[in-house]
Amino acid sequence: MRLVLLGPPGSGKGTQGARISARHGIPSISTGQLFDRQISAGTDLGRRAERYVRAGELVPDEIVLDMVADRLAEGVDCAAGFLFDGFPRTLAQAEALDRMLTASCGPLDAVVDLDVDVNEVLDRIRRRAHTEDRVDDAEDTARRRLSVFAQETAPLRQHYGEIGLLRTVDGTGSPDEVAVRIERTLAAVAHPELPLRG
Ligand code: AMP
Repeated sequence: MRLVLLGPPGSGKGTQGARISARHGIPSISTGQLFDRQISAGTDLGRRAERYVRAGELVPDEIVLDMVADRLAEGVDCAAGFLFDGFPRTLAQAEALDRMLTASCGPLDAVVDLDVDVNEVLDRIRRRAHTEDRVDDAEDTARRRLSVFAQETAPLRQHYGEIGLLRTVDGTGSPDEVAVRIERTLAAVAHPELPLRG
């Protein structure tokens, strides 16, 4: 399946992306993780992206799109599919992804939107700041990332809703509970003729 995982910072995209990837045998392509690696390796791209990541701002579209095009050029199995985690994050990125997929694999099957209340995601980010060494989990940066999400990324919900791809999943509860909801949703995407269970 060709999927996009949408949702604010702290909504569990990383955790759930890894599970979907393992369960369906598809690569999870996280632009946040790709930037992290480029920054750690001190590449030219990493240096261009670092100040935006540290500030909780979006990296400019052209840098993101170059990186994604490079990743796709490394090869993806179109038939098996893939999952994008944290990409696209702007309408321009969504349109560029559409064009890239039209030219290669074919359209997305679904956009899974993890729905978590803003206070809950702030709590999660605060907890994560204690356990993971992320450069962007400080309180004010986390708030900035949430407001960037509301401004730049949330409009993608309407975009993907209008073209019938959006699947909103309740992202509250334990990772296991959320994973069950996601699997149910993906089963309905794969087999729209079957009734939804549970
Ligand atoms: P994430 O781990 O997905 O929350 O991403 C961490 C940071 O990487 C974000 O706050 C942005 O600075 C940058 N980033 C990741 N993906 C994108 C994207 N699709 N567009 C712009 N910036 C991105």
